[in-house]
Amino acid sequence: MPIHLNYQGTTCKKCGAEFIAHKKNCQCPGCGQATEEFCDFAAQTIATMKDHKQLYGNYFPESWFSGSAADLVQGIIFELFDNLEAEKPEDVSVFIISQLAEVGWEDGREGLAGQTEQIALEVYEIYKNDPDFHGGNLKDRPLDPKLNSLNPEPPAFDN
Ligand SMILES: [Zn+2]
Repeated sequence: MPIHLNYQGTTCKKCGAEFIAHKKNCQCPGCGQATEEFCDFAAQTIATMKDHKQLYGNYFPESWFSGSAADLVQGIIFELFDNLEAEKPEDVSVFIISQLAEVGWEDGREGLAGQTEQIALEVYEIYKNDPDFHGGNLKDRPLDPKLNSLNPEPPAFDN
C-alpha cells in the first residue's frame, strides 16, 4: 500500500482554492490570503520517497489515488524524480521546470502549479545532499518494520 500524508492540503478561507502550506506564513496562491497552517511538505515527501523506493523500487507506487491536493502534488513529484533518475539531466532545475510545464491542472487547482515547482526544487535540495538517495543505500537497507505492516504477506492457508 502506498503511503499517504495525514495532511491533505489547505483550503483558502477567503477564495476556497486548495493549496499546500509548505512554508510558514504561507499565502494562498490564488488571492494572497495568509494561513496559519503549515506542513513541512518537502521533508515529508522525501520520507515517503524513501519508503516507496524500498517498497516498490520507484518513487511512484504501483497505484496512487490522488484524493487530495497533497496527494496530487506528491504524485507529480514522485513521477518527476523517477524521470530524473532515468534521464540524468545535466541541468536539473531546467528539467524540473520543463517536466512540470507539461502537467495539466484541473480548474481551480492551477495555483498548485507554481507551488509544485517550488516544492520540487525544495525536495531536490534535500535529495541531492542526502546519501540515502545515492549509491544504492536504500536498496541495501533492511525494510523498516513499519513498512512490513503496510505490505503484508498473503495470508497462509491452514490445511
Ligand atoms: Zn485564496
